[in-house]
Amino acid sequence: MQILHPFAGSVQQYNEQLSDPDVHRPGSCPQCQDKHPLTAHGFYTRTLIDTVFDGVIRVRRYLCKACQRTVSLLPEFILPYLRSSLIVIALFLVTRLLAGQTIEAAAAAPPAMPYQRGQFWIRRFRAQAPSLCASLAALTPPTPAPDFVHRALAMLQTTGWIAAHRFLLAGLRCHLLGWPRGLAPDGRRAALSSAAAPA
Ligand SMILES: [Zn+2]
Repeated sequence: MQILHPFAGSVQQYNEQLSDPDVHRPGSCPQCQDKHPLTAHGFYTRTLIDTVFDGVIRVRRYLCKACQRTVSLLPEFILPYLRSSLIVIALFLVTRLLAGQTIEAAAAAPPAMPYQRGQFWIRRFRAQAPSLCASLAALTPPTPAPDFVHRALAMLQTTGWIAAHRFLLAGLRCHLLGWPRGLAPDGRRAALSSAAAPA
């Protein structure tokens, strides 16, 4: 399970403060609610594409001895399961959907990327927009807009994308672009049910 590392700052600052496992050690387990502090359990690495960074970062992991499951602390500039940082994705969506630039122009802005990646984000954002509008209404009044996509973008711009992501993930277990299939609705792997097996 991934939860948010309560940290705001640059990628470099994040890397520097990762070495001390006590700084943000969860005091209880978010999965089984056991009340004991979790045990440091190493790191995993993942790639990250940010506006000024393209490389590998480490993500700290903790183990709950009660339920034997791990919890990873994801820095808040990242959305689970996406390689590009939240700011890169936000800039693309705003450029394409609010400023109305072509998808090729939006994808060519640094860090340049294949426009298909942007299409994938747009598809997920469109599907997610109605529920984003509903959820973000707790943070900011709904903005008059012609459709859910424009309203969600305006509300995200007002709230701030990282603040909105923090609220959605930490508070509601919602993924700003929607969880990948199999992890909905809250980012946990659903238990396989024998009833779901094909007949
Ligand atoms: Zn646990």
